[in-house]
Amino acid sequence: MQLEDIAKNVNHLREYFATGKTRSIDWRIAQLQQIKKMTVEQEGRIKDALVKDLNKCELEAWSAEVGYINSEIDHALKGLRKWMQPRKVSTPMVAQPGKSYIQPQPLGTVLVIGAWNYPYQLVMAPVIAAVAAGNCVVLKPSELAAHTSALIAELVPQYLDKDAFAVVEGGVEESTELLKQHFDHILYTGGEAVGKIVMRAAAEYLTPVTLELGGKSPCIVDSTANLEVTVSRIAWCKWMNAGQTCVAPDYVVVEKSFVDTFVAAMKAKIQQFYGGDNAASSADYARIINHRHWQRILGYLEGQNVVYGGEHNEESLFIAPTLVMDPDLNSPLMQQEIFGPVLPIITVDKITDAIPMINARPKPLAMYIFTKDQRLEDQILNETTAGNVCINDGMMFMANKELPFGGVGTSGMGSYSGKAGFETFSHMKSVMKRSFMMDVDLRYPPYTDSKLKWLKRLS
Ligand code: NAD
Repeated sequence: MQLEDIAKNVNHLREYFATGKTRSIDWRIAQLQQIKKMTVEQEGRIKDALVKDLNKCELEAWSAEVGYINSEIDHALKGLRKWMQPRKVSTPMVAQPGKSYIQPQPLGTVLVIGAWNYPYQLVMAPVIAAVAAGNCVVLKPSELAAHTSALIAELVPQYLDKDAFAVVEGGVEESTELLKQHFDHILYTGGEAVGKIVMRAAAEYLTPVTLELGGKSPCIVDSTANLEVTVSRIAWCKWMNAGQTCVAPDYVVVEKSFVDTFVAAMKAKIQQFYGGDNAASSADYARIINHRHWQRILGYLEGQNVVYGGEHNEESLFIAPTLVMDPDLNSPLMQQEIFGPVLPIITVDKITDAIPMINARPKPLAMYIFTKDQRLEDQILNETTAGNVCINDGMMFMANKELPFGGVGTSGMGSYSGKAGFETFSHMKSVMKRSFMMDVDLRYPPYTDSKLKWLKRLS
């Protein structure tokens, strides 16, 4: 879409929303089914685009993109009728006879801005929520995952209601033009700096925003944890998509007395997962999205104690799974979100020392605790904050559509997935219906002491 056509297209969607067509359950179901049809029929092309953008292997493309979207749609189709129902709540004595309920209602025309690391999932999952809620949607895929972006722009008009969806491709210029338009909600996924730009632009129309941001997600490993299972789960979650996952463990905290055992097990696990040449020829290992990010990640390694990995190749945008021991907490590696295949290991005298360390930093998007010690688990959960927590595994909360997904503080605001996504894109309208019977005049002027006395007694 040309820059000058953006305003016209958004206005067209707003007019279409006003016709009421998108409100019906039939329209919503039909569009959800079409997204499923698109994802199933075009699975091969989606996977090809993901290979071109990130060298994403088939299993990861399926589990985190194609299969993920299919299960999000199935969940929405199963729950939609119930989600759309008015939710009855009780009515106080002063409003009797009467009834009260909360009626979900579509917001209107919404904007979804996606990031490049899971370029199909991060655009289509919010779209599923927005469609389930009965909205028109403008999709803005990330220009950094150019092949997936182009494919989404090609397929959406083929499969979905052309009057209700528009895809805008491009980068800063197009996004800036889009953000000048009037939307009824914006869901943005990406970094903190642009999150602020989105929120400032949204303020112009007092548009509500959901910000799905990132940050440094800590992983605390206690020596009571099952070591073999723990390193498998951390390695899976960290090196999936070559560490370019918003909820990947950013760094690990372990006790000094346990670190040698942990590092030895982690090195063995990386070799088991990715082969003796440290992933260089593994078909299961992704590449860094572009040269800028490749240089950024390698820059973090300068002056650090690399105890494993560190191999890299600029031509193929490869960086091997890498372990760094006890980096300076003020170095860029520990100040910035890594968003790449480097795992710093921080040692502490006792594991609870992790708590003040985490609390001294911005609130993370995810946190992982590996322990068999219930008291330690409770203490960490109660004394720290994170958008999402997984105990004894990595990012498996993403597989549960009953759990809203979102950040807190600088890792984001609002949430989606499943019913939470439906509610994000709905106005939960409060409705009270009164009867014309029993019109007690206690609240009407002229006010008297006796009316006040009765009101106090009834409230
Ligand atoms: P990115 O470069 O793809 O940018 C995200 C989106 O913002 C893109 O669509 C881009 O075109 C748009 N954009 C860029 N500049 C803009 C501007 N000036 N105005 C408006 N829009 C603009 O992605 P990124 O920022 O590199 O993403 C990485 C970050 O995203 C990491 O912090 C990561 O943790 C976070 N992330 C979060 C989630 C989540 O679900 N919470 C998921 C993936 C990534």
